Amino acid sequence: MSDTTSTAVEDFVLESGEVISSDQIIDITVVGAGPAGLFTVFSAGVQEARCRVIDSMPQVGGQLTALYPEKVIYDVPGFPKVTAKDLVDRLYEQAQQFNPEIHLSETVVNVERLKHRILAVTTDRGNVHYSRSVVIAAGIGAFTPRLPDDEVFAGFGEEHGFYTAVRDKSKFKGREVVILGGGDSAVDWVLGLAEEARSLAVVHRRNEFRAMGHSVTKMRELAEEGKVNVITPYNFKSVDTDNNGHVTGVTVEDKGGAEMHLKCDRLLCLLGFKNDLGPIVEWDLRFEDSAIKVEADMQTNIPGVFAVGDIASYPQKIKLILTGFADASIAVQNCIPYIRPGKKASHVFTSVRGLPAGSK
Ligand SMILES: Cc1cc2nc3c(=O)[nH]c(=O)nc-3n(C[C@H](O)[C@H](O)[C@H](O)COP(=O)(O)OP(=O)(O)OC[C@H]3O[C@@H](n4cnc5c(N)ncnc54)[C@H](O)[C@@H]3O)c2cc1C
Repeated sequence: MSDTTSTAVEDFVLESGEVISSDQIIDITVVGAGPAGLFTVFSAGVQEARCRVIDSMPQVGGQLTALYPEKVIYDVPGFPKVTAKDLVDRLYEQAQQFNPEIHLSETVVNVERLKHRILAVTTDRGNVHYSRSVVIAAGIGAFTPRLPDDEVFAGFGEEHGFYTAVRDKSKFKGREVVILGGGDSAVDWVLGLAEEARSLAVVHRRNEFRAMGHSVTKMRELAEEGKVNVITPYNFKSVDTDNNGHVTGVTVEDKGGAEMHLKCDRLLCLLGFKNDLGPIVEWDLRFEDSAIKVEADMQTNIPGVFAVGDIASYPQKIKLILTGFADASIAVQNCIPYIRPGKKASHVFTSVRGLPAGSK
């Protein structure tokens, strides 16, 4: 049994007795695919480190995607102004050059240090990802979809016809679809599914929709053409299921308590996201000011575990996108000697060296 520096494939016996081979251990696992996480992936690629990123949201982009996709940002260097959505698209494209492993809709619930300097990253799907180092880029916590009623929908999933994101439009083709929500993604998916669905209704608690004006106009036009039923101001009341627990309809009610029943076999709930630091506070990390305390090299109190972006705390920290980028670059620079003991990260400008062979 040896350390992890060799490039030859070798086996490691863990405390549990489980044997894992070195090619199951990735160099860097990034927790969070917000701007700091995505730039960490890029920075890792520049250093030829194999990288995986895990995020609880169905899309990358962190707060920019979940909270303000259409807002214009003015303080990202090189962009006099850019919408949050466009910035995320650029960051994603930049990170994708290195073919990282990307796991979405998956929340990291534990990070544990094992023998042989191996870190085990466990997720809510029961997956254990082995890694030589971990960069926590978890921002203000894991974003998870807001549900109309947490108790009622506990245990409900896509296998029951209940969706909180559209990953595959074909699942809605020829179906009776009800969308709950009144923001950008609800209206976008009304437009996106109008041609796919057999019937389509959108239910929102207000008459006004919080979405881009031209999208709302288009939705109203579809309503006039009879392609979508816009039901406002109504709130979710209850869901009906068959004997297999499959959604068969929803009941909604107006402010006066008058109920309306809508038949459906696809219920798409797009009510935004809630964030929660959740399990991270239990990972034996040192916290200060509700963030993870890091040293100047971005390392936390757990060797091999780094933190960047909004979740990282150090003197004079400013929680901005651009500081997250700088954190990411410093963290990766300091990950390299950790994952390849004896080696230093070579700091050469990408403009001089170019990107490593194999990048797109
Ligand atoms: C309304 C608003 C406007 C803003 N405007 C600006 C601006 O103009 N300019 C600017 O510079 N900054 C702005 N900010 C701040 C900026 O959004 C943050 O500084 C930035 O998003 C931090 O990036 P991050 O990658 O550290 O974290 P986040 O963007 O929060 O991303 C963290 C990601 O980690 C994921 N995650 C967390 N925990 C887990 C877990 N256990 N498992 C898996 N995934 C997990 C989350 O789901 C999330 O996707 C604004 C913030 C808000 C709220």
